[in-house]
Amino acid sequence: MTSRHPNPPADAMAPLRDFVIAATALAGQPMEEADRVAALRPLLSRLIADDGWLPAYCAQPHPDHYCQYLLHCDPLERFSVVSFVWGPGQCTPVHDHTVWGLIGMLRGAETGQHFRRDPAAGLVPEGQAQRLDPGDIELVSPATGDIHQVANAHADRSSISIHVYGANIGAVARHVFDRATGAARPFVSGYSAASVPNLWDRSAAVRSTLAEGRP
Ligand code: FE
Repeated sequence: MTSRHPNPPADAMAPLRDFVIAATALAGQPMEEADRVAALRPLLSRLIADDGWLPAYCAQPHPDHYCQYLLHCDPLERFSVVSFVWGPGQCTPVHDHTVWGLIGMLRGAETGQHFRRDPAAGLVPEGQAQRLDPGDIELVSPATGDIHQVANAHADRSSISIHVYGANIGAVARHVFDRATGAARPFVSGYSAASVPNLWDRSAAVRSTLAEGRP
């Protein structure tokens, strides 16, 4: 991991912009979900290997609940990128996504427990809880397991993961589940901020080419 920049460089957004450009190119190519997810994994891996690009406001926890900051939404809503910020000890309800999603750990650690619905027993844990540490990536998908619960693995500090979904996830009609009965309730997550980071101010790089007298 590279360390966080105390003062972000002029083009601090370059890693996220590069990811968005590559993900947009992939989104334009018809492919099976498994192939798309496989192609996105190394891109997300590269993005979360650098801890200097996430704007401070997208890393801000809330004392009462976890936050989800939209970093980018594809104009055709084919994918979105979100930073999830967990305050100490915070967790999600049990929920689904209805679309594929990749979860990449940036800072701290989180635990994820998958579930399946059982008509008689309600929600049944599927396998062991998985811990994600920085650099780790997990998949959720209706094709492979879409219901889970995620929690900050730390009780004394924030954790942050970067998520990529196959839709504008904040506007997707999905579900939260009663842990005991398995009963589903409609859910739309929305986002924690009204703005998105500016990925597109490349002026410093262009200005430097002017200063050097290059065309
Ligand atoms: Fe989730």
